[in-house]
Amino acid sequence: MEHRVFDDPQVVQQKMIAVRKQGKLIGVVPTMGALHEGHLSLVQQAKRDADFVVVTIFVNPTQFAPHEDFDKYPRTLKQDLEQLRELEVDLIFTPANESMYPPGYDTFVEVVESAKRFEGVSRPAHYRGVATVVLKLLNITMADMAFFGQKDYQQCCVIKKMTADLNLPVRITVCPTVREPDGLAMSSRNRYLSPEERTQALVLSRSLTLAQELVDDGMTDTDRICRMMREKIETSPLAQIDYIAIADPVTLEELATISARPQSQTTGNSTRAVVLLAVRFGATRLIDNTLLF
Ligand code: AMP
Repeated sequence: MEHRVFDDPQVVQQKMIAVRKQGKLIGVVPTMGALHEGHLSLVQQAKRDADFVVVTIFVNPTQFAPHEDFDKYPRTLKQDLEQLRELEVDLIFTPANESMYPPGYDTFVEVVESAKRFEGVSRPAHYRGVATVVLKLLNITMADMAFFGQKDYQQCCVIKKMTADLNLPVRITVCPTVREPDGLAMSSRNRYLSPEERTQALVLSRSLTLAQELVDDGMTDTDRICRMMREKIETSPLAQIDYIAIADPVTLEELATISARPQSQTTGNSTRAVVLLAVRFGATRLIDNTLLF
C-alpha cells in the first residue's frame, strides 16, 4: 500500500499525466482524513464511476479561521491508510502544508455570493480556503470527476459554482449523507461530543425529519417550519442554534415559501428546497441538511 502514498504535488501530477495518457478516467475524493463511513462511501462511488481513484488527505489550513480547530482537528493517518488499503484505492495524496502553500503563496479563489450565507456568516473565509484547495487538488490530480458529500451541502454548491464559472473540465458528483444508525450525520467532529452531547445531538436529524413531515402535511411557510424545527432543537438544553434556513437547492437563496409539489414526478427534478442547519454542542459545531420533496 505504502507505495501508493505520495506527498509531493509535482510527483503526483507527473504520475497523473501518465495515467491520463493511458486513457483512464480519473476520480478524486478530497478529504481531511479522520476517515469514517461517510468518506468511504465517496470512495466507493468513485470506484464505481472512475478507472483510477485518488484520495487526498490534507487538513487545509486556509479554510480554518485562527480561532477554529485546525490544530485540534483529528489526524489519524495510520488508520486512514488502513481503511483505504481495504478499498484498494489507486493513489493517496498526503501533501504537507509547505508543499501546498510554500512561502510567498499568493493566489486564492473566491466564489462570491453562494459562499456568503449560512456557513459564510460564521466562517467568512472558509469557502475561499475550500475553493482554493479543491482547485489545487483538481489540478494536481488531473481529475475528470470529483466526489463530495451532501453532508456539506453548501460546500457542494460552492464547488459546483466554481467548476461552472471557471470552465473546469471536471464532473462533480454529490453523494448522500451517511448517518449513524440513530440518525446523526457522520462527521470527524462527532468524536468531540461528550456522551450527553452525543445523545442530545439527535435532535438535528429529527428536526430535519420534522421539516419533511410538515411539508408533507402541506405547510409551505418556511418561517413556520423553521420555528417548529427550532422548538424541537431547543428541547435539548445543550444545543445552541447558529442557523436554520430553508433555501433554493441550487442558488441557496432563502425561500419565504416552498413551491407547490410538481404535478408530475416523471419529468424534471422534484426537489423543492433544502433545509440547512448549524448547531453548537459545547465547543463542537455540527452541520446537517436535507432536501425537501
Ligand atoms: P472532510 O474530511 O470533512 O473534509 O470531508 C471530506 C468529504 O467527505 C466531503 O466531501 C464531505 O462532504 C464528505 N463527508 C463527510 N461526512 C460525510 C457523511 N456523513 N456522508 C457523506 N459524505 C460525507
